[in-house]
Amino acid sequence: MTVLILNASYEPLTFVSWQRAVALVVTGRGELLEQDGDRIVRSSGGLELPWPAVVRLLSMVKTRRGSGVPLTRQYLVARDGRRCQVAGCERRGDTIDHLVARSRGGEHRWTNVALMCGRHNSVKGDRTLDELGWSLKREPTEPTRVMILTTRARTRSEWERWVVPAQ
Ligand SMILES: [Zn+2]
Repeated sequence: MTVLILNASYEPLTFVSWQRAVALVVTGRGELLEQDGDRIVRSSGGLELPWPAVVRLLSMVKTRRGSGVPLTRQYLVARDGRRCQVAGCERRGDTIDHLVARSRGGEHRWTNVALMCGRHNSVKGDRTLDELGWSLKREPTEPTRVMILTTRARTRSEWERWVVPAQ
């Protein structure tokens, strides 16, 4: 079971295994904020504690900001909320569109990709949004680590209450 780790500032930091999370609590480096149901973990030393869902570090860990989120399908889905990014479209974004097509020199980077539904992607082809008169729901930007972590944390109620909205 995965555990959400918050920085001392309550900012989402990472996800770790429950074993690592328990070790943080047992050694006094983290405090248990949220438990996972009524289950109990028994450590090898005979200590019993609630099964962790969210643990906050008691001292601040420095994080790099604004860089280093690799462009993967998983993270793009998190950034775009699984939805087609063409303004007004409510369909699922099942395909990755290069806004300036790769055949026209468009790069594979955060500011040039967006999720689109199959219909919009196939109509668009290698044309640009300007040529089609389309616009996007929001400007495509590189997401921050916190934004990605927050999006994942929204998938479980035990985690969700500890994270702020992504934007
Ligand atoms: Zn669409």
